[in-house]
Formats: sequence, C-alpha cells, structure tokens
Amino acid sequence: MEIILFWLILSCLVGYYAKTKGRDSVKAFILAIFISPLIGFIVVALLENKSDDLQLKSGDLKKCPACAELIKSDALKCKHCGESQAQDKSVDELQLLIKNLKNK
Ligand SMILES: [Zn+2]
Repeated sequence: MEIILFWLILSCLVGYYAKTKGRDSVKAFILAIFISPLIGFIVVALLENKSDDLQLKSGDLKKCPACAELIKSDALKCKHCGESQAQDKSVDELQLLIKNLKNK
C-alpha cells in the first residue's frame, strides 16, 4: 500500500518539476504515474527549460543588450551589470506603436 502512495508522491513531484521548467505538468504527471516517476523525471530533466522563453514572449522579461541576462521589461537598470535600460524602453514603446498602427 505504501509503495502506491510513494509512487503517487513521486509522480506529483515530477509534475511540479515540469511546471517549474514551464512544461505541461499534467503530461509529466501522467507519464510518471503510468510508466515510472524515475523515467518521468529523466524525460523532464532532458526537456529544454521553457519558462524563460514564455516570459520573454509575454513581455514580462527582456534581454539586457549589454550582458544578455534576462531582466524585467520595466527595469530602468540591469540588475546584473547596472547598464541603463532607458533607451531600450523607448525602442520598445516605438515597436508597440508600430504594432498598433499595423493592426489598424
Ligand atoms: Zn545587463
């Protein structure tokens, strides 16, 4: 009986691990529960981390042009290298304006 509980807990952990990587936690959970939590864990570990990509696409994050680290899009200064981001913001605003104009 305990092995089933242990299996379930491990499968949940695999699902959670997939979520932290920006992956589908339900698919990872199903894979872990029906095949093996260990195999599920290995598969998730081999998958590319998508959470940064998602945040980049949604506009929450941007890449610092000076050091290439990810920073918040609202940041005026890079937290990694201290580079001023003020110019970049106006470029973003221009791109947004152009996008809005194209949609009209
Ligand atoms: Zn930087």
